[in-house]
Amino acid sequence: MELERHEYDVVVVGAGGAGLRAAIAAHEAGARTAVVCKSLLGKAHTVMAEGGIAAAMANAYPEDNWRVHFRDTMRGGKMLNHWRMAQLHAQEAPDRVRELEDWGALFDRTPDGLISQRDFGGHRYARLAHVGDRTGLELIRTLQQRTVALGIDVYMECTVTRLLTGRGAGAADDAADGVGVTGAFGYWRESGRFVAWQAPSVVLATGGIGKSYKVTSNSWEYTGDGHSLALQAGATLVNMEFVQFHPTGMVWPPSVRGILVTESVRGDGGVLKNSAGNRFMFDYIPDFFRKETAETEDEADRWYDDKKNNRRPPELLPRDEVARAINSEVKAGRGTPHGGVFLDIASRRPADYIRKRLPSMYHQFKELAEVDITAEAMEVGPTCHYVMGGVEVDPDDEAARVPGLFAAGEVAGGMHGSNRLGGNSLSDLLVFGRRAGLAAAEHARGRVDRAPLPDEALADAARAALAPFEREGGENPYTVQQDLQQTMHDLVGIIRTAPEMEQALERIAALKERVANLSVEGHRQYNPGWHLALDLPHMLRVSECIARAALERQESRGGHTRDDHPTPDAEWARTNLVCSLAPDGSVALTRQPLPQMPPELAEIFEESA
Ligand code: FAD
Repeated sequence: MELERHEYDVVVVGAGGAGLRAAIAAHEAGARTAVVCKSLLGKAHTVMAEGGIAAAMANAYPEDNWRVHFRDTMRGGKMLNHWRMAQLHAQEAPDRVRELEDWGALFDRTPDGLISQRDFGGHRYARLAHVGDRTGLELIRTLQQRTVALGIDVYMECTVTRLLTGRGAGAADDAADGVGVTGAFGYWRESGRFVAWQAPSVVLATGGIGKSYKVTSNSWEYTGDGHSLALQAGATLVNMEFVQFHPTGMVWPPSVRGILVTESVRGDGGVLKNSAGNRFMFDYIPDFFRKETAETEDEADRWYDDKKNNRRPPELLPRDEVARAINSEVKAGRGTPHGGVFLDIASRRPADYIRKRLPSMYHQFKELAEVDITAEAMEVGPTCHYVMGGVEVDPDDEAARVPGLFAAGEVAGGMHGSNRLGGNSLSDLLVFGRRAGLAAAEHARGRVDRAPLPDEALADAARAALAPFEREGGENPYTVQQDLQQTMHDLVGIIRTAPEMEQALERIAALKERVANLSVEGHRQYNPGWHLALDLPHMLRVSECIARAALERQESRGGHTRDDHPTPDAEWARTNLVCSLAPDGSVALTRQPLPQMPPELAEIFEESA
């Protein structure tokens, strides 16, 4: 078998914010480090991030500090976040933003020359460091430049299909059975040739799972590879039922349905209206947030200029609340002609202001929908955006349950509980990417005695990858993908019921059989049908985790809304759901108690009660 082989201390899979930050940290800690990514360098999902990076820098409000950010994050996640991750994130985010600036990132400024911070849903104070509505681009540009300047090896347009485990990378002292990560196997997308990396530490930074849904803000890369690779290697996933539906995606024309309309539109003054012209969010303020939300339109509007003496507009409630409200309005027949609601900033802000603050949104609507957002309202509706669930990791060093495996960024679970606040992902990537890289380098340091990767494991990975070429007359991968996306959209979407999810699981089981019979035509050189055939088992595995966990959690909380169990449940407030892979390849679920928050942090919630 023709195979390219490489050897490193740390291999990072994924070159978004988390992956690049991890690679920089590992390299700076002295590890020989490589980054592998399936798209071009710089094209990761992070580049699409618009609104900003949440960090309690107190530039806009001196009262802001990590304790308030921690409190907001936990409340946004409905207290299901791993408290330690939320604490580290709130404490370290400001340093990570300042460090980005030191490395050359050019943030928007306040009149005093400080990094400007904008409002976002669920954050008590204006806290998002930003660059217009193109923050992700600046973040990636900065990290990418540093990665290249440091001389870190990058394998781009290269997809990892399997993690390798065994005793071969000095892992014998790690676990009771001596099994740990030994490397990764993948293929070059252009040539179809195989490549293997031997390394005692692998950091997964592969992002999310959105492509399992029909309407999504996510790009083609988000097929849940890292979640699935981790499961296959023996790691666990936590709380996969929590999928975030962003309230505002484009709904028209059909070709752009799901593309994100940033929350900054609402943060900068945009309001949601139904077909009768009513600002309906005032009808959907939950008791949990009533104390801090404006009661009248006047108070809400005053808040933009005087935040100290007024409460926040209900349009800036956490995303799960706003998405459910939009869903209810549309269901009640008060939607727009194309099945969304109106998002109006045109009647509330001058055209110049809109073009300056929201340049990408202005162009996006102009070019894709022929809508001038400085003159007319946008039509928007919920879109699958983010997965809160992910690889179960140690909060301090991001180690998964398999020795040598680490995970950071969207692929990791725990940090955001049942619902992520806007802006908290970019900060999460920086804080935990760095921690994962440092820990991965440390793990590799002692493992000097590294046996070569066994030929049989590599041959097996190659056989599995080539299997779709061996079958004739099998299923077309695109048909199977469409059926999966429709199933998840219809049956495991924003509002869920037990009979629908049972039906989803039956369909997923049938789709698994079809995936085992996929066939592709042509050759290995740049063959998108083959690439999809290799992504589909990941998408199905992840979808099964979501559906099983969503069926099991009989309550409504954050991104998980059960029509048949519409309220939160006290017992479930103390319970995490953990997915693992059974020997027959099926997904097994275990209930696990939530880690106990120490009293000094619990006090923060008593102070603000
Ligand atoms: P990514 O940036 O997606 O990187 C994943 C990497 O993994 C890519 O390089 C990909 O090629 C690689 N990869 C995946 N699978 C494989 C494989 N099998 N083999 C090799 N490589 C692989 N969050 C905020 O905090 N603020 C915002 O303003 C914001 N705006 C957003 C706007 C949009 C439109 C979207 C979609 C998201 C937004 N988010 C925002 C969320 C945030 O951007 C993402 O959660 C975050 O960028 C994820 O970063 P990551 O490093 O985990 O993954």
